[in-house]
Amino acid sequence: FIDLDNFKAVNDTLGHDMGDQLLAQVAARLVASVREADTVARFGGDEFVVMLEALAPDIQDAATQAETVAEKLLASLNQPFELDGGQHYSTPSIGITLFGDERLSVDELLKRADLAMYQAKAAGRNTQRFFDPDMQAAVNARSNLEADLRQGLARGELLVHYQPVVDHQARLLGAEALVRWRHPQRGMISPAEFIPLAEQTGLILPLGQYVLQTACEQLQRWSQQSATAHLSISVNVSARQFRQSGFVAEVLQALRSHQADPRKLKLELTESLLLGDIEDTIARMEQLKGEGVGFALDDFGTGYSSLSYLKRLPLDQVKIDQGFVRDVLTDPNDAAIVRTILALAHSLDLQVVAEGVETAGQLTFLRLHGCEAFQGYLFGRPEPIDKFAADLLAPPASAPAGGAAP
Ligand code: C2E
Ligand code: MG
Ligand code: MG
Repeated sequence: FIDLDNFKAVNDTLGHDMGDQLLAQVAARLVASVREADTVARFGGDEFVVMLEALAPDIQDAATQAETVAEKLLASLNQPFELDGGQHYSTPSIGITLFGDERLSVDELLKRADLAMYQAKAAGRNTQRFFDPDMQAAVNARSNLEADLRQGLARGELLVHYQPVVDHQARLLGAEALVRWRHPQRGMISPAEFIPLAEQTGLILPLGQYVLQTACEQLQRWSQQSATAHLSISVNVSARQFRQSGFVAEVLQALRSHQADPRKLKLELTESLLLGDIEDTIARMEQLKGEGVGFALDDFGTGYSSLSYLKRLPLDQVKIDQGFVRDVLTDPNDAAIVRTILALAHSLDLQVVAEGVETAGQLTFLRLHGCEAFQGYLFGRPEPIDKFAADLLAPPASAPAGGAAP
């Protein structure tokens, strides 16, 4: 199964006539690279299928032969094409599957070859990959998980836990809302396992909306009690969620419907947003900022950071990734990175939250270099709201019972 890499760009930049010419030249090269008895077909768009018959009876030998032909096709298609009087380069991604002993339907075979082709794309394109059953198992597990997550959302299996964020005197400033999935069979599942899938499938939209609504509801509850009225909640927002057209309206609607104070809501964005339309990102942030909503850049230092962008984004806060905090006392590089982030943030007038603070030693280092807010197991793990309130908001012994907000 052969798919041309970036074929759309040819159509878009050189026009459809040139795209057609390229396809015709590719077809001619494919035909020229295989034996008379083999079959070459255009499957549709920029996809071709080549069927090689009468390979060696031994499966390993057959695989080697198929690989040799695939390499030959790659080499042939890597030669420049003559288009519009100029030279044009195009590369293919090739997926291979073997058949013979097994009785498989045509659909199943094509599906396998197509899957393998996607592996070739994922491996960087202009290469070939074989279908293997492990790959199929991974695909199946993924689609099961997706169906499960869809149901889990509908059945209310997703929960929001809260982790404290404290100042340099360990006073509570607020919490980060972290989603959890209480799976009926598998128990508690961490977001690292299902957020990427939710992003790929679009389920992040209802999921993100649920977390946002839950956080706004909690903010409203906290606002009712003087002991908790100052607390803020940070909500993680994926790039896909942030870019969706109704995002700004959705956030404002969540705040209004729960009568929550926008100034107590912080949205945590990641550096991956900087890879997209930066002007649009800034415009959205400005709109929400105009209503009082705050912004933090999460996992700072792990992604694509451009200082000029950092300056342009209307941020309030950066969160130093826990990966740097972890070894801050033992790895001089991490220590240097943390000090640099702190100095940079101060000069840009950004608040800094250090994530993943687990030891008093890490805390001392961070405070020494000017960090003013902290999050990590040293101060508390993410917990359900009742536990969070009991641990952190319990009234002093002298206060009347029931003084703490839930
Ligand atoms: P994050 O936003 O960077 O959240 C911090 C993660 O560090 C959390 O993992 C938290 O439990 C963990 N953590 C906090 N303190 C410590 C510590 O002292 N030591 C160690 N080793 N870990 C600590 P968690 O809850 O598993 O969340 C993982 C990631 O999933 C989050 O990273 C965030 O990117 C994403 N996520 C969580 N909830 C949501 C959500 O509602 N929406 C979106 N889009 N992403 C979410
Ligand atoms: Mg976060
Ligand atoms: Mg983080």
